[in-house]
Amino acid sequence: MSARTGRAVVLESFGRPLALRTFDLPAPPDGGMVVACTYGGICGTDLHLRQGHLAIPTPLVLGHEGIGVVRELGAGAARDATGAELRPGDTVMWASSIACGRCVPCRLHREPTLCENRRTYGVNRSVEQGPALSGAWADHIVLQPGTTVVRPADGVDPLAAMSLACAGPTVVHALYERRPVRVGETVVVQGSGPVGLAAAALAQLSGAAKVVIVGGPAGRLAAAAAAGIGDAHLDIAGAADPEQVLDQVREAVGGDGADLVIECAGVPAAVAQGLRLARRGGSYLVIGQYTDAGDTLINPHQIVHRQLDVVGSWAFTGAHLVEYVKLLPALTARFDLRSLVTAYPLEEHAAALSAVADGSVMKAVLAS
Ligand SMILES: [Zn+2]
Ligand SMILES: [Zn+2]
Repeated sequence: MSARTGRAVVLESFGRPLALRTFDLPAPPDGGMVVACTYGGICGTDLHLRQGHLAIPTPLVLGHEGIGVVRELGAGAARDATGAELRPGDTVMWASSIACGRCVPCRLHREPTLCENRRTYGVNRSVEQGPALSGAWADHIVLQPGTTVVRPADGVDPLAAMSLACAGPTVVHALYERRPVRVGETVVVQGSGPVGLAAAALAQLSGAAKVVIVGGPAGRLAAAAAAGIGDAHLDIAGAADPEQVLDQVREAVGGDGADLVIECAGVPAAVAQGLRLARRGGSYLVIGQYTDAGDTLINPHQIVHRQLDVVGSWAFTGAHLVEYVKLLPALTARFDLRSLVTAYPLEEHAAALSAVADGSVMKAVLAS
């Protein structure tokens, strides 16, 4: 077996360049495992973490989404979440968070995504609390007992699996638990980042009659269209007159508006627009405002007059990751997910983050 050390990208202090550091690689904990990361995904949330927009401990190995190969299994970690046998050499994905099972949302409200004590790889497992290798921007990660680990079907391309690694389960949660897409519905998706593309792709798989993506910049919409995601694509980011684009959306949707509007833009102002894109009696599902980006002005009359169901959805649990992984063969058969991903070596983490920040890539992953 090779050296018992691992290299990882570390957030040492907010707003400063990240550092590539080497740590000891511990033995796998009982019930857990050591995984050699193939890819660690960069998510929009990571840009906020780096700047200190969320209260997290440092130093911290970043990376809350990943795919890798089991290197060593701890005692008692013989099966994945579906009951399939696990062996060293198997490819796996893992859920970023473990809910505590003890707090009020976990025990009484049956809402583990709202757990008050979630432990999340790459977000709140600091180097000092150990093990240091608790993020996916590394060549190895130590997974703790209680982690939802799942083996993708044979033949699933790991890069394609990473295209919607965090966005996919997030949207599975939203569409499975919060507001399903019904057969024949017309759906507007606001936002053309990974969450928007996941929402559009899963809406199409769910039987939507038409899916309109409103987003930008134009390159992202073109990438979505080339991957087969969305039936119509409208650029609001580059538009001189956003109101005109909204009229075009209404025209593309037809009738009095969409049956379902899914907000995946993360920009507060999108909510005022989204409320006016739904038909009377329709639904508005808000997923994109994961980071608190501040207040916005809305007209609440739109909610009442249109008699809208306005629903929020927060994060995901291990079960939603398992659903996403189960859907990968169907998703990759219909959509060119691999085309959405750009891989960078671990050493080029700074370039990868810049490309995500300026929107020049749809999805960046770090390869070990
Ligand atoms: Zn994420
Ligand atoms: Zn809890």
